[in-house]
Amino acid sequence: MKPRGWKELNPGAVITEAGSARKFKTGSWRSFKPVWIEENCIQCMMCWIYCPDMAITAKDGKRGEFNYYFCKGCGICALECPGKKGKKAIVMEEEGQ
Ligand code: SF4
Ligand code: SF4
Repeated sequence: MKPRGWKELNPGAVITEAGSARKFKTGSWRSFKPVWIEENCIQCMMCWIYCPDMAITAKDGKRGEFNYYFCKGCGICALECPGKKGKKAIVMEEEGQ
């Protein structure tokens, strides 16, 4: 998305266009990324509920992969994940490793 100067902004910086957050790929902010360990996943969907960026895909009541275009790497999903028998199904890894 091309940056705009202050003269082009709406008064009060009000956003009038619905769904504009889709254009802003927040994944570029990330310094850590979540990694899904599917064999430890019990499909409780807690990660999907807690993710503030809706960066976890879901279909037919089951979670899928992370959408790294929008994941900011906040780590909330990894914190909330109960995993299976004490083994986490999401771990945070440093970007670029
Ligand atoms: S790290 Fe944060 S933004 Fe990324 S998927 Fe997990 S909860 Fe969502
Ligand atoms: S919170 Fe953990 S166990 Fe639950 S669906 Fe997400 S990855 Fe799977």
